[in-house]
Amino acid sequence: MPSLKPLFDRNRKWSADIKARDPKFFERLAGLQSPDYLWIGCADSRVPANEIVGLLPGELFVHRNVANIVVHTDLNCLSVLQYAVDVLDVKHVIVCGHYGCGGVHAAMRNDRLGLIDNWLRHIQDVMKKHHERLAELPDESARFRRLCELNVVEQVLNVGQTTIVQGAWDRGKALEIHGVIYDLHDGLLRDLSVCVKSYAEFTEVYRQTAER
Ligand SMILES: [Zn+2]
Repeated sequence: MPSLKPLFDRNRKWSADIKARDPKFFERLAGLQSPDYLWIGCADSRVPANEIVGLLPGELFVHRNVANIVVHTDLNCLSVLQYAVDVLDVKHVIVCGHYGCGGVHAAMRNDRLGLIDNWLRHIQDVMKKHHERLAELPDESARFRRLCELNVVEQVLNVGQTTIVQGAWDRGKALEIHGVIYDLHDGLLRDLSVCVKSYAEFTEVYRQTAER
């Protein structure tokens, strides 16, 4: 597989570097993963989950798709969420969007890109829901940034509405859902202040979101 040789070379170096620092690292990981966090983020190559938050393999369970969307009929995303909450017992679900998201931009411009247009319809629904607030913003760039944020907030609500999270809260499990956004220009994460850790908080954030 000569075309992938550079990647295999890098992989060997990466593995050797880690083993040099911690000879038992992979042995421990192979036996068990017990991450505290589930990350639901965009598939964008510029937003690598573990690197951004400085976590090692084994410390972050990850699901990524175009534009970090959580859809109640997406068995892939729901299975990741259920496994993370019920089996791995994660304590935090982090929905991470990012400014400059190509998926959000395509949805905003109603671009015709192919099959993915159907997926991006979910963002157009977010856009319609917040149409009046978005229209008040001064320009396209401000609307784009705000839509990236609103998309995260709506996906936090979607996570909170799943039977998986509602069931976990009903059982008294300590499970927090967070909405954060990453800025490609400075590499920093920003908290969108939509952290929910109970059904009561969820209902309040849901109400506030309608006014955003
Ligand atoms: Zn993106």
